[in-house]
Amino acid sequence: MKKILLPLLLTVAPALQSFAAEAPSSYEQLLKHITTPPAAGDAVYPAARASASQAAGLYWVTIKAADKAERTSLLEQGFDIIEVDRAKGTVSGIAGQELMDHLSSKSFSVLSRRPLAEHAAAVSKDFPAADAVYHNYKETTDLLRDLAARNSDIASLFSIGKTLEGRDIWCLRVNSSAKGEAPSSKPGAFFLGNIHAREHLADEVPLLFAAWLMDHRNDADVKKYISTLDIYIVPMGNPDGVEYDIKNGSYQYFRKNLAKNSDGSRGVDLNRNFDSWWCEAGASTYPGSDTYCGPKAFSEPESQHIRDFMLARRNIRTHISYHSYASEILYPYGGSDSDVPNAKDKQAFIKHAAEMGKLTGYEPLKSSEMYIATGDSCDWAYDATGALSFTFELEGRGFYPGAAIVKGAVERNIKAAVYLLSVTDDPYRGL
Ligand SMILES: [Zn+2]
Repeated sequence: MKKILLPLLLTVAPALQSFAAEAPSSYEQLLKHITTPPAAGDAVYPAARASASQAAGLYWVTIKAADKAERTSLLEQGFDIIEVDRAKGTVSGIAGQELMDHLSSKSFSVLSRRPLAEHAAAVSKDFPAADAVYHNYKETTDLLRDLAARNSDIASLFSIGKTLEGRDIWCLRVNSSAKGEAPSSKPGAFFLGNIHAREHLADEVPLLFAAWLMDHRNDADVKKYISTLDIYIVPMGNPDGVEYDIKNGSYQYFRKNLAKNSDGSRGVDLNRNFDSWWCEAGASTYPGSDTYCGPKAFSEPESQHIRDFMLARRNIRTHISYHSYASEILYPYGGSDSDVPNAKDKQAFIKHAAEMGKLTGYEPLKSSEMYIATGDSCDWAYDATGALSFTFELEGRGFYPGAAIVKGAVERNIKAAVYLLSVTDDPYRGL
Protein backbone atom coordinates (compact mmCIF):
# COMPACT_ATOMS: atom_id res chain seq x y z
CA MET A 1 0.00 0.00 0.00
CA LYS A 2 1.12 3.51 -0.45
CA LYS A 3 -0.25 6.98 -0.10
CA ILE A 4 -3.73 5.69 0.40
CA LEU A 5 -5.35 8.60 2.04
CA LEU A 6 -3.13 11.41 0.91
CA PRO A 7 -5.68 14.03 -0.07
CA LEU A 8 -5.82 14.92 -3.70
CA LEU A 9 -4.96 18.40 -4.76
CA LEU A 10 -6.81 18.54 -8.01
CA THR A 11 -9.26 21.14 -7.05
CA VAL A 12 -10.94 24.10 -8.52
CA ALA A 13 -9.30 26.98 -6.77
CA PRO A 14 -11.30 30.15 -6.48
CA ALA A 15 -9.04 32.90 -5.26
CA LEU A 16 -9.05 33.14 -1.51
CA GLN A 17 -10.18 36.51 -0.39
CA SER A 18 -10.10 38.07 3.00
CA PHE A 19 -13.01 39.77 4.61
CA ALA A 20 -13.62 43.09 2.93
CA ALA A 21 -15.09 44.61 6.05
CA GLU A 22 -13.38 44.70 9.45
CA ALA A 23 -13.76 41.35 11.18
CA PRO A 24 -16.14 41.18 14.15
CA SER A 25 -14.42 40.58 17.43
CA SER A 26 -16.88 40.81 20.30
CA TYR A 27 -18.83 37.65 21.07
CA GLU A 28 -22.14 39.32 20.23
CA GLN A 29 -20.81 40.59 16.91
CA LEU A 30 -19.42 37.14 16.18
CA LEU A 31 -22.78 35.52 16.87
CA LYS A 32 -24.50 38.02 14.61
CA HIS A 33 -21.93 37.35 11.92
CA ILE A 34 -22.45 33.60 12.26
CA THR A 35 -26.19 33.87 11.77
CA THR A 36 -26.03 36.33 8.87
CA PRO A 37 -25.57 34.86 5.40
CA PRO A 38 -22.10 35.71 4.10
CA ALA A 39 -21.68 38.43 1.53
CA ALA A 40 -20.18 37.62 -1.83
CA GLY A 41 -16.42 37.63 -1.51
CA ASP A 42 -16.42 36.16 1.98
CA ALA A 43 -15.14 32.92 0.57
CA VAL A 44 -12.23 32.42 2.93
CA TYR A 45 -13.50 28.99 3.72
CA PRO A 46 -14.28 26.80 0.75
CA ALA A 47 -17.66 25.55 -0.28
CA ALA A 48 -18.78 23.03 2.25
CA ARG A 49 -19.51 20.29 -0.19
CA ALA A 50 -16.69 18.22 -1.49
CA SER A 51 -16.33 18.77 -5.20
CA ALA A 52 -16.37 15.71 -7.38
CA SER A 53 -12.76 16.21 -8.44
CA GLN A 54 -11.51 16.73 -4.89
CA ALA A 55 -13.00 13.52 -3.63
CA ALA A 56 -12.08 11.50 -6.71
CA GLY A 57 -11.01 8.00 -5.80
CA LEU A 58 -12.19 8.31 -2.22
CA TYR A 59 -15.22 6.57 -0.81
CA TRP A 60 -17.37 6.75 2.26
CA VAL A 61 -17.32 3.12 3.36
CA THR A 62 -19.14 1.12 5.98
CA ILE A 63 -17.27 -1.85 7.37
CA LYS A 64 -18.37 -4.67 9.62
CA ALA A 65 -16.71 -4.36 13.01
CA ALA A 66 -18.69 -6.25 15.59
CA ASP A 67 -16.82 -5.22 18.70
CA LYS A 68 -14.14 -3.07 20.22
CA ALA A 69 -11.35 -5.47 19.28
CA GLU A 70 -12.30 -5.29 15.60
CA ARG A 71 -12.60 -1.49 15.72
CA THR A 72 -9.17 -1.23 17.33
CA SER A 73 -7.72 -3.55 14.71
CA LEU A 74 -9.16 -1.42 11.89
CA LEU A 75 -7.39 1.64 13.30
CA GLU A 76 -4.17 -0.36 13.30
CA GLN A 77 -4.67 -1.18 9.62
CA GLY A 78 -4.76 2.55 8.95
CA PHE A 79 -8.52 3.07 8.69
CA ASP A 80 -9.67 6.12 10.64
CA ILE A 81 -13.01 5.31 12.22
CA ILE A 82 -15.19 8.36 11.80
CA GLU A 83 -18.57 6.96 12.83
CA VAL A 84 -19.47 3.97 15.00
CA ASP A 85 -22.84 2.22 14.99
CA ARG A 86 -22.65 -0.09 17.98
CA ALA A 87 -26.15 -1.45 17.49
CA LYS A 88 -25.43 -2.57 13.94
CA GLY A 89 -21.83 -3.56 14.63
CA THR A 90 -20.47 -1.35 11.87
CA VAL A 91 -18.12 1.58 11.46
CA SER A 92 -17.80 4.16 8.71
CA GLY A 93 -15.03 6.33 7.37
CA ILE A 94 -13.09 7.33 4.29
CA ALA A 95 -11.00 4.99 2.15
CA GLY A 96 -9.49 4.75 -1.30
CA GLN A 97 -9.39 1.55 -3.36
CA GLU A 98 -5.98 0.52 -2.04
CA LEU A 99 -7.03 0.71 1.58
CA MET A 100 -10.26 -1.16 0.83
CA ASP A 101 -8.24 -3.91 -0.88
CA HIS A 102 -5.88 -4.03 2.07
CA LEU A 103 -8.75 -4.30 4.56
CA SER A 104 -10.35 -7.06 2.51
CA SER A 105 -7.04 -8.95 2.54
CA LYS A 106 -7.18 -8.73 6.32
CA SER A 107 -10.68 -10.28 6.26
CA PHE A 108 -12.64 -7.12 6.92
CA SER A 109 -15.95 -6.87 5.05
CA VAL A 110 -16.68 -3.61 3.31
CA LEU A 111 -20.47 -3.64 3.49
CA SER A 112 -21.11 -0.55 1.41
CA ARG A 113 -19.26 2.19 -0.39
CA ARG A 114 -20.33 5.40 -1.92
CA PRO A 115 -18.24 8.08 -3.67
CA LEU A 116 -17.17 10.58 -1.04
CA ALA A 117 -18.54 13.58 -2.96
CA GLU A 118 -21.95 11.92 -3.09
CA HIS A 119 -21.88 11.15 0.61
CA ALA A 120 -20.75 14.67 1.47
CA ALA A 121 -23.57 16.18 -0.58
CA ALA A 122 -26.11 13.94 1.15
CA VAL A 123 -25.09 14.76 4.73
CA SER A 124 -24.62 18.47 4.10
CA LYS A 125 -27.56 20.64 5.03
CA ASP A 126 -28.74 23.72 3.26
CA PHE A 127 -26.15 26.07 4.63
CA PRO A 128 -24.53 28.86 2.67
CA ALA A 129 -22.28 27.88 -0.15
CA ALA A 130 -19.21 29.19 1.62
CA ASP A 131 -18.32 28.57 5.25
CA ALA A 132 -17.05 32.09 5.69
CA VAL A 133 -18.02 32.23 9.35
CA TYR A 134 -15.30 29.71 10.18
CA HIS A 135 -11.97 31.24 11.15
CA ASN A 136 -8.88 30.29 9.21
CA TYR A 137 -5.44 30.65 10.78
CA LYS A 138 -5.04 34.35 10.05
CA GLU A 139 -8.53 35.18 11.27
CA THR A 140 -8.06 33.10 14.40
CA THR A 141 -4.76 34.90 15.05
CA ASP A 142 -6.29 38.33 14.40
CA LEU A 143 -9.23 37.68 16.69
CA LEU A 144 -6.98 36.44 19.51
CA ARG A 145 -4.73 39.51 19.08
CA ASP A 146 -7.72 41.79 19.20
CA LEU A 147 -9.17 40.13 22.31
CA ALA A 148 -5.82 40.44 24.08
CA ALA A 149 -5.36 44.06 23.00
CA ARG A 150 -8.82 45.15 24.09
CA ASN A 151 -8.55 43.36 27.46
CA SER A 152 -4.89 43.87 28.18
CA ASP A 153 -5.46 44.10 31.94
CA ILE A 154 -6.58 40.47 32.09
CA ALA A 155 -5.58 38.85 28.78
CA SER A 156 -2.32 38.25 26.95
CA LEU A 157 -1.27 36.34 23.88
CA PHE A 158 1.84 34.25 23.37
CA SER A 159 3.04 31.46 21.12
CA ILE A 160 3.58 28.03 22.62
CA GLY A 161 5.90 27.22 19.71
CA LYS A 162 6.06 26.96 15.96
CA THR A 163 4.67 24.34 13.65
CA LEU A 164 6.69 22.48 11.06
CA GLU A 165 5.89 25.20 8.50
CA GLY A 166 6.75 27.95 10.97
CA ARG A 167 3.30 29.08 12.10
CA ASP A 168 2.94 30.15 15.70
CA ILE A 169 0.54 28.12 17.84
CA TRP A 170 -1.21 30.92 19.71
CA CYS A 171 -2.34 30.81 23.29
CA LEU A 172 -4.66 33.38 24.84
CA ARG A 173 -4.08 33.57 28.55
CA VAL A 174 -6.72 35.00 30.88
CA ASN A 175 -5.32 35.85 34.28
CA SER A 176 -5.81 39.05 36.31
CA SER A 177 -2.30 39.05 37.75
CA ALA A 178 0.11 37.18 35.46
CA LYS A 179 0.79 37.92 31.79
CA GLY A 180 2.36 36.05 28.92
CA GLU A 181 4.52 33.16 30.04
CA ALA A 182 5.03 34.35 33.62
CA PRO A 183 4.28 31.56 36.10
CA SER A 184 1.17 31.56 38.26
CA SER A 185 0.19 29.51 41.26
CA LYS A 186 -3.52 29.99 40.61
CA PRO A 187 -5.35 26.82 39.58
CA GLY A 188 -5.17 26.47 35.80
CA ALA A 189 -7.61 25.38 33.09
CA PHE A 190 -6.41 24.59 29.57
CA PHE A 191 -8.67 24.55 26.50
CA LEU A 192 -7.12 23.15 23.31
CA GLY A 193 -8.74 22.96 19.89
CA ASN A 194 -8.34 21.59 16.40
CA ILE A 195 -5.30 19.30 16.64
CA HIS A 196 -7.04 17.34 13.91
CA ALA A 197 -7.02 19.59 10.86
CA ARG A 198 -10.41 18.90 9.26
CA GLU A 199 -12.28 19.29 12.56
CA HIS A 200 -12.88 23.02 12.08
CA LEU A 201 -15.70 23.32 14.59
CA ALA A 202 -13.05 22.45 17.19
CA ASP A 203 -11.40 25.84 16.54
CA GLU A 204 -14.64 27.81 16.65
CA VAL A 205 -15.74 26.49 20.05
CA PRO A 206 -12.69 27.49 22.13
CA LEU A 207 -12.14 30.64 20.04
CA LEU A 208 -15.65 31.94 20.58
CA PHE A 209 -15.49 30.85 24.20
CA ALA A 210 -12.50 33.21 24.53
CA ALA A 211 -14.53 36.05 22.97
CA TRP A 212 -17.47 35.24 25.26
CA LEU A 213 -15.23 35.31 28.35
CA MET A 214 -14.00 38.78 27.40
CA ASP A 215 -17.53 40.06 26.69
CA HIS A 216 -18.75 38.68 30.01
CA ARG A 217 -15.70 39.58 32.08
CA ASN A 218 -17.80 41.68 34.45
CA ASP A 219 -20.44 39.02 35.15
CA ALA A 220 -20.06 38.00 38.80
CA ASP A 221 -19.08 34.38 38.21
CA VAL A 222 -16.81 35.08 35.23
CA LYS A 223 -15.12 37.88 37.13
CA LYS A 224 -14.43 35.47 39.96
CA TYR A 225 -12.87 32.88 37.62
CA ILE A 226 -10.74 35.51 35.92
CA SER A 227 -9.39 36.77 39.21
CA THR A 228 -8.82 33.38 40.83
CA LEU A 229 -7.85 31.10 37.93
CA ASP A 230 -5.16 30.84 35.27
CA ILE A 231 -7.03 30.19 32.01
CA TYR A 232 -5.30 29.14 28.78
CA ILE A 233 -7.01 28.86 25.40
CA VAL A 234 -5.21 27.44 22.34
CA PRO A 235 -7.99 27.24 19.74
CA MET A 236 -5.89 25.95 16.83
CA GLY A 237 -3.31 23.34 17.78
CA ASN A 238 -2.53 22.25 14.21
CA PRO A 239 -2.58 25.37 12.01
CA ASP A 240 -0.49 23.80 9.22
CA GLY A 241 -3.04 21.03 8.83
CA VAL A 242 -5.97 23.44 8.95
CA GLU A 243 -4.53 25.66 6.24
CA TYR A 244 -3.68 22.64 4.11
CA ASP A 245 -7.24 21.37 4.49
CA ILE A 246 -8.73 24.58 3.08
CA LYS A 247 -6.04 26.04 0.89
CA ASN A 248 -7.32 25.16 -2.55
CA GLY A 249 -10.85 26.36 -2.09
CA SER A 250 -12.34 22.96 -1.41
CA TYR A 251 -11.95 20.77 1.61
CA GLN A 252 -9.23 18.13 1.57
CA TYR A 253 -10.48 15.83 4.37
CA PHE A 254 -7.03 16.20 5.91
CA ARG A 255 -6.57 15.11 9.52
CA LYS A 256 -2.87 15.13 10.35
CA ASN A 257 -0.03 17.64 10.61
CA LEU A 258 2.26 18.27 7.64
CA ALA A 259 5.21 16.05 8.55
CA LYS A 260 7.13 14.87 5.50
CA ASN A 261 7.17 11.12 5.90
CA SER A 262 9.89 8.80 4.69
CA ASP A 263 7.68 7.33 1.97
CA GLY A 264 6.73 10.71 0.55
CA SER A 265 3.32 10.88 2.22
CA ARG A 266 2.37 13.76 4.48
CA GLY A 267 1.37 13.90 8.08
CA VAL A 268 1.43 12.29 11.49
CA ASP A 269 -1.78 11.87 13.49
CA LEU A 270 -1.04 14.18 16.41
CA ASN A 271 -3.56 12.35 18.58
CA ARG A 272 -1.53 9.15 18.19
CA ASN A 273 1.84 10.81 18.74
CA PHE A 274 1.81 11.40 22.50
CA ASP A 275 3.90 9.22 24.77
CA SER A 276 1.10 7.17 26.23
CA TRP A 277 1.33 3.49 25.26
CA TRP A 278 2.64 5.01 22.05
CA CYS A 279 1.63 3.07 18.94
CA GLU A 280 0.72 -0.05 20.89
CA ALA A 281 -2.90 -0.35 19.73
CA GLY A 282 -5.40 1.50 17.59
CA ALA A 283 -2.67 3.33 15.71
CA SER A 284 -0.86 2.58 12.47
CA THR A 285 2.84 2.43 11.65
CA TYR A 286 1.99 3.00 7.98
CA PRO A 287 2.90 6.65 7.19
CA GLY A 288 0.21 7.18 4.56
CA SER A 289 -2.63 6.25 6.90
CA ASP A 290 -4.82 8.65 8.82
CA THR A 291 -3.92 7.00 12.12
CA TYR A 292 -0.12 7.09 11.61
CA CYS A 293 1.56 7.39 15.01
CA GLY A 294 4.81 8.92 13.70
CA PRO A 295 8.38 7.54 13.81
CA LYS A 296 8.50 7.90 17.60
CA ALA A 297 6.50 9.39 20.46
CA PHE A 298 6.59 13.19 20.36
CA SER A 299 8.28 13.21 16.97
CA GLU A 300 6.23 16.25 15.94
CA PRO A 301 6.75 19.91 16.90
CA GLU A 302 3.04 20.41 17.57
CA SER A 303 2.79 17.54 20.08
CA GLN A 304 6.14 18.57 21.60
CA HIS A 305 4.88 22.11 22.20
CA ILE A 306 1.69 20.91 23.86
CA ARG A 307 3.77 18.59 26.04
CA ASP A 308 6.23 21.31 27.02
CA PHE A 309 3.46 23.82 27.62
CA MET A 310 1.70 21.51 30.06
CA LEU A 311 4.84 20.30 31.80
CA ALA A 312 5.87 23.91 32.42
CA ARG A 313 2.48 24.73 34.00
CA ARG A 314 1.83 22.22 36.69
CA ASN A 315 -0.89 24.46 38.11
CA ILE A 316 -3.18 23.23 35.29
CA ARG A 317 -5.85 21.06 36.91
CA THR A 318 -8.47 20.76 34.20
CA HIS A 319 -8.18 20.34 30.45
CA ILE A 320 -10.40 19.92 27.41
CA SER A 321 -9.17 18.96 23.94
CA TYR A 322 -11.84 19.64 21.32
CA HIS A 323 -12.44 17.34 18.36
CA SER A 324 -15.35 16.60 16.04
CA TYR A 325 -17.63 14.78 15.63
CA ALA A 326 -19.58 12.27 17.73
CA SER A 327 -21.38 14.29 20.43
CA GLU A 328 -19.35 12.64 23.18
CA ILE A 329 -17.38 13.64 26.24
CA LEU A 330 -14.54 11.18 26.70
CA TYR A 331 -12.32 10.66 29.71
CA PRO A 332 -9.23 8.45 30.24
CA TYR A 333 -8.18 6.01 29.35
CA GLY A 334 -8.42 5.81 25.58
CA GLY A 335 -5.29 3.74 25.17
CA SER A 336 -6.21 1.03 27.63
CA ASP A 337 -9.28 -0.85 28.80
CA SER A 338 -8.41 -0.09 32.38
CA ASP A 339 -9.82 2.72 34.44
CA VAL A 340 -7.50 5.36 35.84
CA PRO A 341 -5.92 3.80 38.95
CA ASN A 342 -6.72 6.68 41.31
CA ALA A 343 -10.25 6.12 42.63
CA LYS A 344 -10.86 9.77 43.40
CA ASP A 345 -9.78 10.85 39.93
CA LYS A 346 -12.06 8.23 38.43
CA GLN A 347 -14.98 9.59 40.43
CA ALA A 348 -14.12 13.13 39.37
CA PHE A 349 -13.92 12.14 35.70
CA ILE A 350 -17.29 10.40 35.82
CA LYS A 351 -18.99 13.22 37.70
CA HIS A 352 -17.67 16.11 35.60
CA ALA A 353 -18.21 14.29 32.30
CA ALA A 354 -21.81 13.61 33.36
CA GLU A 355 -22.39 17.24 34.35
CA MET A 356 -20.90 18.57 31.14
CA GLY A 357 -22.93 15.94 29.28
CA LYS A 358 -26.13 17.40 30.71
CA LEU A 359 -25.09 20.88 29.59
CA THR A 360 -24.20 19.87 26.04
CA GLY A 361 -26.44 16.89 25.39
CA TYR A 362 -23.31 14.86 24.62
CA GLU A 363 -22.81 11.32 25.86
CA PRO A 364 -20.20 10.94 28.62
CA LEU A 365 -18.09 7.79 28.46
CA LYS A 366 -14.67 6.34 29.04
CA SER A 367 -12.66 6.92 25.88
CA SER A 368 -11.73 3.26 25.34
CA GLU A 369 -15.33 2.10 25.35
CA MET A 370 -15.49 2.70 21.59
CA TYR A 371 -12.05 1.39 20.67
CA ILE A 372 -8.52 1.46 21.98
CA ALA A 373 -6.38 4.26 20.60
CA THR A 374 -2.91 4.83 22.01
CA GLY A 375 -0.75 7.95 21.89
CA ASP A 376 -3.76 10.03 22.92
CA SER A 377 -3.10 13.58 24.11
CA CYS A 378 -5.53 13.46 27.04
CA ASP A 379 -4.24 10.11 28.35
CA TRP A 380 -0.75 11.59 28.30
CA ALA A 381 -1.84 14.90 29.89
CA TYR A 382 -3.59 13.13 32.74
CA ASP A 383 -0.80 10.65 33.44
CA ALA A 384 2.02 13.17 33.09
CA THR A 385 0.49 16.15 34.89
CA GLY A 386 -2.53 14.93 36.85
CA ALA A 387 -4.80 17.43 35.08
CA LEU A 388 -8.32 16.05 34.66
CA SER A 389 -8.35 15.84 30.87
CA PHE A 390 -11.40 15.44 28.66
CA THR A 391 -11.75 14.91 24.93
CA PHE A 392 -14.85 16.57 23.54
CA GLU A 393 -16.16 15.11 20.31
CA LEU A 394 -18.39 17.98 19.21
CA GLU A 395 -21.66 17.59 17.40
CA GLY A 396 -22.53 17.42 13.73
CA ARG A 397 -22.68 15.01 10.87
CA GLY A 398 -19.49 15.30 8.91
CA PHE A 399 -16.34 17.34 9.28
CA TYR A 400 -17.82 20.23 7.33
CA PRO A 401 -21.20 20.75 8.95
CA GLY A 402 -21.63 24.29 7.68
CA ALA A 403 -22.27 27.62 9.30
CA ALA A 404 -25.65 26.81 10.81
CA ILE A 405 -24.23 24.44 13.40
CA VAL A 406 -21.74 26.86 14.92
CA LYS A 407 -23.97 29.00 17.12
CA GLY A 408 -25.67 26.13 18.96
CA ALA A 409 -22.44 24.20 19.39
CA VAL A 410 -20.67 27.25 20.77
CA GLU A 411 -23.51 28.13 23.15
CA ARG A 412 -23.78 24.61 24.54
CA ASN A 413 -20.04 24.27 24.94
CA ILE A 414 -19.64 27.62 26.66
CA LYS A 415 -21.88 26.21 29.39
CA ALA A 416 -19.65 23.15 29.74
CA ALA A 417 -16.46 25.24 29.70
CA VAL A 418 -17.83 27.55 32.40
CA TYR A 419 -18.77 24.48 34.43
CA LEU A 420 -15.20 23.25 34.14
CA LEU A 421 -13.95 26.64 35.34
CA SER A 422 -16.32 26.40 38.29
CA VAL A 423 -14.62 23.21 39.51
CA THR A 424 -11.04 24.04 38.54
CA ASP A 425 -10.15 25.43 41.97
CA ASP A 426 -11.02 22.05 43.50
CA PRO A 427 -12.16 19.34 41.07
CA TYR A 428 -12.64 16.94 44.00
CA ARG A 429 -15.05 19.06 45.98
CA GLY A 430 -18.13 17.17 47.06
CA LEU A 431 -16.89 13.75 45.95
ZN1 LIG B 1 -10.12 14.48 16.21
